[in-house]
Order: sequence, then structure tokens, then C-alpha cells
Amino acid sequence: MVQKVLGTDDRARFELAESIIGHHHHLVCIECGAVDDFVVSTTSEHVIEQALAGAIAASGFRPTGHRLDVLGRCSRCP
Ligand SMILES: [Zn+2]
Ligand SMILES: [Zn+2]
Repeated sequence: MVQKVLGTDDRARFELAESIIGHHHHLVCIECGAVDDFVVSTTSEHVIEQALAGAIAASGFRPTGHRLDVLGRCSRCP
């Protein structure tokens, strides 16, 4: 029950599936490659889902979930 998580360096990262640890997002440091988890409020998740649904409505794609990774620099990097 692990799921592949892509960092910025193409090295495969693995973590427990969301069915175990719950839905969350990632903070990916573009300097050192560190990946941290963060959780978005249920209200904000709903806004994200609505925005995605609107954006892909014409494609016929039926979404079952989403992934959202935030890229940037962690507190340990300049
Ligand atoms: Zn870093
Ligand atoms: Zn989400």
C-alpha cells in the first residue's frame, strides 16, 4: 500500500497510500528535494475540486481525486 510520489529530481519517493494516512498535499523543496506533507481544510478542498471540475468539464474526464504539490524552498534552504 505505497504510492509513488515524484520529487523534483525524478528520484522515486514512496509513502503510505492516502487510504491509510488521509488526503494531503506535498511541499517539495526545489533546492534540497525535501518533501513535507500539509493538509488543506475541507472547505478549501471543496473549492479546489470545484475549480478542477470546471476546468476539465469539456474533456469528458471523470476525476476521482487530485494531487497538489507546492514547489519552493524549505525553511532550511536559503
Ligand atoms: Zn530545502
Ligand atoms: Zn486536495
